[in-house]
Amino acid sequence: MNREITVARGDGIGPEIMDACLRILEAAGAPLDYDEVNVGEKVYLSGNTSGIEPNVWDSLRRTKVFYKAPLTTPQGTGFKSINVTTRKTLGLYSNVRPCVSFDPFVRTKHPGMDVVIIRENEEDLYAGIEHRQTDEVCQTLKLISRPGSEKICRYAFEYARAYGRKKVTCFTKDNIMKQSDGLFHSVFDEVASEYSDIESEHWIVDIGAAKLADTPENFDVVVLPNLYGDVLSDVAAQIAGSVGMAGSANIGEHAAMFEAIHGSAPRRAGQNLANPSGLLMGGVLMLVHLGMRETAGKVHNAWLKTLEDGIHTYDIFRDGVSKQKVGTREFGDAVIERIGAKPENLPAVEYPDRPMTIPTATPRAPQQKLLRGVDVFIAWTDSDRNPDVLGEGLARADGDGLTLSMITNRGLKVWPNGAPETFCTDHWRCRFGVADDASLEQERIFQLLSRVGALGYDVIKTEHLYTFDGVPGYSLGQGQ
Ligand code: NAD
Repeated sequence: MNREITVARGDGIGPEIMDACLRILEAAGAPLDYDEVNVGEKVYLSGNTSGIEPNVWDSLRRTKVFYKAPLTTPQGTGFKSINVTTRKTLGLYSNVRPCVSFDPFVRTKHPGMDVVIIRENEEDLYAGIEHRQTDEVCQTLKLISRPGSEKICRYAFEYARAYGRKKVTCFTKDNIMKQSDGLFHSVFDEVASEYSDIESEHWIVDIGAAKLADTPENFDVVVLPNLYGDVLSDVAAQIAGSVGMAGSANIGEHAAMFEAIHGSAPRRAGQNLANPSGLLMGGVLMLVHLGMRETAGKVHNAWLKTLEDGIHTYDIFRDGVSKQKVGTREFGDAVIERIGAKPENLPAVEYPDRPMTIPTATPRAPQQKLLRGVDVFIAWTDSDRNPDVLGEGLARADGDGLTLSMITNRGLKVWPNGAPETFCTDHWRCRFGVADDASLEQERIFQLLSRVGALGYDVIKTEHLYTFDGVPGYSLGQGQ
């Protein structure tokens, strides 16, 4: 019996490359039926700002597998990204992107590169919670959760085991973001300690990214929070050879989505030019996910043989190395002709039957949470923005055990004892805290806010300050 999957032919070059891929999968004998759905540009332009027709969700809930060509997100505000909506709605928390070089057949500075980027897909700055808070300052919330970090780190180690990989590297910026990236790093360390058969390491993302771009052969599996993963997976795919060659899997507990990592390249659309390789490699990841491992190996090896035979689309064609410049359709035909063949120069691929579990988060007893103070954010431009004037004025709101201890501007402490050279915006964080050991009642914070309001200050938001089992869950001011 055939397995039903949901298919979207996409926009731009999408329909051409999807057509080539489906023909190849069929020729390899993949037992698949397709439920074709409408998502993307036409749906957006018909007035549906989500870009997704409602029946698509029914199809995805039934088939649980989505094979999706690239989509065009129209320019302008108000159009929600279908990728982000699909990933978050279906809980596709893990984005897996194998980045492999095919030297000498596809130009690369990194022969021997074989890195798998595993990117957290639901959290971080992609929560899309943004606010303009003052005339001068906008804010995007970066949300990192313990269960979200645990699932993705565990996924990386389970992946390493299932695919015979030796090492998992984590990148964060926890020297600066000690709370959010600090949580991701500490959960990575906790999870790593349970996988003593796999080597683990952590790099600060800036030097880690530089090393990845310079010596990718030293990396194996790399796990990252969402934003770093977004940027570095494109870098890794590009330095391996081309973003046009890499496929991507988005995996969750309930469903999965497979695609190319590139976009809809509208300028190349309808000309039979585009390289279908990225979407085809997404299709191979899908076959492996569906347990059709032998067919996955057949398609992958036929594709490698096509590459090493020098049959190349324009984007990877190189005089002296390539033998024949072909279009999308002809590239598909060449892969089909080679089904059953194995590459002779590039390493052939085999997908052994090692099913992988999709990790879930481990429930944990909540820690003791005490309210210790509040950061009151104020919009203020009076008195030439002199922080001493703000400090003196706001201290008049002290009372009921709460005292103003610090004011920062863009995170830097400017009161008390600020430096006269510091540039200040109109966005001030004013920290009030309690000296005793007891947990503060919320009511006392509301009273403080009404005292601050009564003094005429423009309160734009507050953040409560908690300790968890005695450990502060908030950062100090820079320079504090
Ligand atoms: P793009 O990846 O579509 O194209 C960038 C350039 O890369 C193209 O001009 C082309 O020269 C080349 N290219 C990309 N894929 C190729 C292929 N298969 N074969 C040959 N050359 C290829 O990026 P873009 O131009 O920034 O984005 C175009 C549209 O795609 C935008 O609307 C964007 O929102 C969308 N997009 C969609 C996805 C997705 O659906 N997953 C991902 C990224 C971008």
